[in-house]
Amino acid sequence: MLLDEDKPKEACGVFGIYAPGQDVARITYYGLYALQHRGQESAGIAVGDGEKITCRKGMGLVGEVFTEDTLRMLKGHIALGHVRYSTAAENTIENAQPHNFYYKQGMIALGHNGNLTNYAELRRKLADSGAVFQSTADSELMINLIVRAGTEDLASGILKTMEQLEGSYSLILITEKKMFGIRDPHGMRPLCLGRLGDGYILASESCALDTIGAEFIRDVKPGEVVMIDEDGVTALQPHRDCKRALCVFEFVYLARPDSVIDGLSVQQARYALGKELAREYPLDGDMVIPVPDSGTSSAFAYAMERGLPFREGLMKNRYVGRTFIRPVQVTRDLGVRLKLNPIREMIFGKRVIMVDDSIVRGTTSGKLVQMIREAGAKEVHLLVSSPPVTHSCYYGIDTSKNGELIAASHCIEEIREHIGADSLGYLSRSGLHAALAPFNPDILCDACFCGDYPIR
Ligand code: SF4
Repeated sequence: MLLDEDKPKEACGVFGIYAPGQDVARITYYGLYALQHRGQESAGIAVGDGEKITCRKGMGLVGEVFTEDTLRMLKGHIALGHVRYSTAAENTIENAQPHNFYYKQGMIALGHNGNLTNYAELRRKLADSGAVFQSTADSELMINLIVRAGTEDLASGILKTMEQLEGSYSLILITEKKMFGIRDPHGMRPLCLGRLGDGYILASESCALDTIGAEFIRDVKPGEVVMIDEDGVTALQPHRDCKRALCVFEFVYLARPDSVIDGLSVQQARYALGKELAREYPLDGDMVIPVPDSGTSSAFAYAMERGLPFREGLMKNRYVGRTFIRPVQVTRDLGVRLKLNPIREMIFGKRVIMVDDSIVRGTTSGKLVQMIREAGAKEVHLLVSSPPVTHSCYYGIDTSKNGELIAASHCIEEIREHIGADSLGYLSRSGLHAALAPFNPDILCDACFCGDYPIR
């Protein structure tokens, strides 16, 4: 078991560029690098040149899939990039995105971040009407719906299709000549718009705009479609009144700290979570250590608020990646040790307060506590900067099945006993809301902490 196997998994990252005269494939490659944390199983880039779309994709990380030669082959002025972690559909090359199709007016490619909750129902209807599929991915189904919508133009087809879709989706769609950015009416997954010279960028997170030197313009609004072509950006917003429900886990764990989502800095949100944690659990200890990396901001804020030393007590090996060969049963504890190693000299004889962002299955927390004890800590207290995860996510984040979520079947004292910590504290739901108050918590989804699902 590796550390990040006990964390929620992001579904995907999307990146799009409309920029005549620029090397759009290469810029997309860099944009995808910035979004790599959102999906590590496959990567793809589709490029439109005004007449056709050329697509390359493969299994693996962005740096493994693309070479200088591949990028040179992708010529045009519009590009769509995608990195994928499979949640609903299988992890196969057929499900790797972008999905690229011919239809009666030309070519179309689509990349999706999210999960349709009425996928099975929509697919059955399409199959009954004679549609055939190459994959089990939502995105292929959406392309079918859009091109079969029977509308005069693609934009109207997209708006009509959105009336049928339920669930979460932030999409980028390109034709040979146009680019579209589409965000579901709940605004569950992020999508932002930026400018690069005379061109435009769409990206799952603003960190991708920073990486390529683009200027942030704004977030795509929930339920909005932006169309980008030679006339610039046209915003189309279908009239559908929905409860806003941006995924709170973006702020807790998923997004990069240097991103700003719907106006709220992820880093500042994590600081606020750490401060709230300090108000709820004002522990005495000799040092505060984070579980790197996503626990770092909250641990730092906790330490500041409590006036305690902040130390790197666990050293992370950043080179244990996707292609890592899993340890066999006899050495299964090795997985966590290969990824994180306690710094004995720092920890020995100390009362350690360890801060993590979340506990999903609880499989690694116990191993971390044990490792810190074995390194000589006198006490180990674990604080978690989010509430207990008690419910599965159906909107594109793999938080494990309900039966695997330790907090779904155990109270906090049982979990503490299970992981062997001297004390265990989770941020309360009201603390989570207080921390994100600048943002208006009413527009967030926090269903995995309470079961109050915003979409059926
Ligand atoms: Fe995010 Fe949890 Fe809502 Fe899923 S259920 S969208 S992980 S907050």
